[in-house]
Amino acid sequence: MIRTAAILSTGDELTTGRTVDTNSNFISDKLVAAGFDVVSIMVVGDYPERITWAWHEALRQADVAISTGGLGPTADDLTTETVAQLSGRRLILDTAVADRIRQMFEAMGRVMPENNLKQAQFPQSAEIIANALGTAPGFRLDLDTEHGRRHLIVLPGVPREMKPMLEEQVIPWLQQNRGSNDIYLSHVFQTFGISESALDELVADCVAADEGRIAFRAAFPQISVRLTVHGEPAVVPQRLEQLAARLRERIGTYAYGEGDTTMEATVGAMLKRKGLTLAVAESCTGGLVGNRITNVGGSSAYMRGGIIAYANDVKQQQLGVRSSTLETHGAVSEPTAVEMAVGVRQRLNADIGLSVTGIAGPDGGTPEKPVGTVCFGLATADKVFSRRYQLWGNREWVKLLASQVALDWVRRYLLGIDPMDSGILKR
Ligand code: AMP
Ligand code: MG
Repeated sequence: MIRTAAILSTGDELTTGRTVDTNSNFISDKLVAAGFDVVSIMVVGDYPERITWAWHEALRQADVAISTGGLGPTADDLTTETVAQLSGRRLILDTAVADRIRQMFEAMGRVMPENNLKQAQFPQSAEIIANALGTAPGFRLDLDTEHGRRHLIVLPGVPREMKPMLEEQVIPWLQQNRGSNDIYLSHVFQTFGISESALDELVADCVAADEGRIAFRAAFPQISVRLTVHGEPAVVPQRLEQLAARLRERIGTYAYGEGDTTMEATVGAMLKRKGLTLAVAESCTGGLVGNRITNVGGSSAYMRGGIIAYANDVKQQQLGVRSSTLETHGAVSEPTAVEMAVGVRQRLNADIGLSVTGIAGPDGGTPEKPVGTVCFGLATADKVFSRRYQLWGNREWVKLLASQVALDWVRRYLLGIDPMDSGILKR
């Protein structure tokens, strides 16, 4: 029976603070979503005795231990040897893996250094976990220990390689070998424009403790609400749907999407469905809004383009903002935001013009317009919206939050609700 998991991250770069351990975060998120109980996350440097200690701890605590890191070809990559030692297994060269590594080098026009063969060695009777994106495969080992049957899963440290291996191979294996009929299903709502605590209040009495679990996750600038239902396969899907319907109704338009989606993907899909085009005029966000919109594949169907109008004379020349508007109201003002939105809409020949102008800080704030003051504009053929907001946080945060508000404005406009009325951000 596999119910509990421990996660182990190894690498000196993690214990010295040079690299943030994002792997364990990713893995725990996926494990919890799949209904496993993550007992602990451990991080140790590249020392055999520390890695051994951590594995022993992990195997004492949990049914399955998943490690990342230490699978490289160099002398400080110690995971495979350590696992072989602590499990009392010999290391055996897998010739198919060795050939594949050699071929990968040949395809790049290079000769494989001999130490790469290390990545083709696995403890006896390990199941190899293929790595489509790199030279180091992972492996799984089943062990009978004094604590019971345990499963060791070893993955490479490079996040881009580890993630698909976990999602496509490890999680499905864990689910198949869970050893209980019970299933866990979850449904996620992505929200914006409401604080975590307000959201908590909003949904508080929606789901009873014996029906399901609600968990909040704030990954700025979005807050997701995850509903998880656990039980027999025959009843869980329907119960999940019922509870999700209740939540959907309660959260309303604060939810911009469901499942693994983003604000830019939501906005893009809406524009596409309505056959409308967008152009952006950005000052303080410096192209971030345009970047996010074009991060979505197929965005050429609705994205006309953008103008980063940072300096005042660029706002005038490229967007047609009047000098009198700038003089009277300043670059960070609703009238300027309006002229930017109208200007970019006309000049780039789009259905919707969107603008952002603000003070991202840390300098440039005044008592009347403190750091975080950001004005937004949205112009269509027959309507213009503008509003000033007081955002918060450091420069990066203000820019990101401003880009989120801007995208949310488009979403709200397309939903037929007042873009200016976006919850807690309102000033
Ligand atoms: P390794 O498999 O130990 O050779 O790790 C290769 C690279 O992956 C390291 O240099 C890091 O940049 C990255 N890496 C390893 N472990 C982690 C982790 N826990 N979180 C994020 N990045 C990691
Ligand atoms: Mg390492």
